[in-house]
Amino acid sequence: MSDPAPAPRSARLEDALRALLDDAATFGVLGFGAESPLPAATAAVPATVPHAVPGAVPPSTDAQRTPQKGVGEPVRAAPRTDATRTAAESREAQPPGSDDPAAGLLLLADEIESCRRCPLGGLRAHAVPGQGNPRAEIFFVGEAPGAEEDLSGLAFVGEAGRLLTKMIEATGHSREDVFVADVLKCRPPGAREPGPDEIDGCREHLFRQIALVRPRVICALGGHAAAALLETDEPIGRLRGVEHRFRGTPVVVTFHPAHLLRTPSEKSKAWEDLKFMLKLLGKEPPARPTTSAQGPAA
Ligand code: URA
Repeated sequence: MSDPAPAPRSARLEDALRALLDDAATFGVLGFGAESPLPAATAAVPATVPHAVPGAVPPSTDAQRTPQKGVGEPVRAAPRTDATRTAAESREAQPPGSDDPAAGLLLLADEIESCRRCPLGGLRAHAVPGQGNPRAEIFFVGEAPGAEEDLSGLAFVGEAGRLLTKMIEATGHSREDVFVADVLKCRPPGAREPGPDEIDGCREHLFRQIALVRPRVICALGGHAAAALLETDEPIGRLRGVEHRFRGTPVVVTFHPAHLLRTPSEKSKAWEDLKFMLKLLGKEPPARPTTSAQGPAA
């Protein structure tokens, strides 16, 4: 897919302003324009990581989730996609490193960095394992790195990433609270969609990351994330608004931020999905600030 010719600067500014006001109305109030700093890039840690360990794992406890200094790094992952494991199997299935998810994620990031399971490993500038709180209660799953992610080695740092940050902040969380990772860890060239073989070869990394972080809820961003986690080809419209499960962990499905950038009219549906996610966590959406200019946020 080739990129369209860039719009004139004035049109781009107008579009950006419109998007900012639209986000403010949908996900909160003014202030979304001031982008939050993203987690710092993680230093690579040399290591070998034991191979996939099947099993659903219980979420981390609240005490464990307290963000720690120095966290905000890559991820690790887990196993098969069957939801049939017993509690005893799940306990046995704790992946190596469960007691220290930050270390486990770093080891896995190193493994991802040297992965050559598919040709994408030889085409990328950087692998993009994902980053965030190793004990996050919310784990966001995207599709694949884009150009900016490929250059930086960090997930969701481009335009879609900036919208994702606003969505996360609208829920009362920060990028540093949550974990964000993609199904594919390397950029497909030309912004094309991930291929089925690429997804099959790569998603085990994501599953191992989820097993290490042990989130309370997973938010699948878009159809590829939902399909990789839930092994479904149902359209996103049929998956939204329902609590799914990935190896015992609740999953909510919403639109990918890149889709929302193309179709801003669906942002209000995405906000409904995020509120559903908060409900599964037993949380209320944060109170919306008001401004005299705007009145109560929509
Ligand atoms: N889109 C994704 O799915 N992931 C990223 O990291 C960036 C854009």
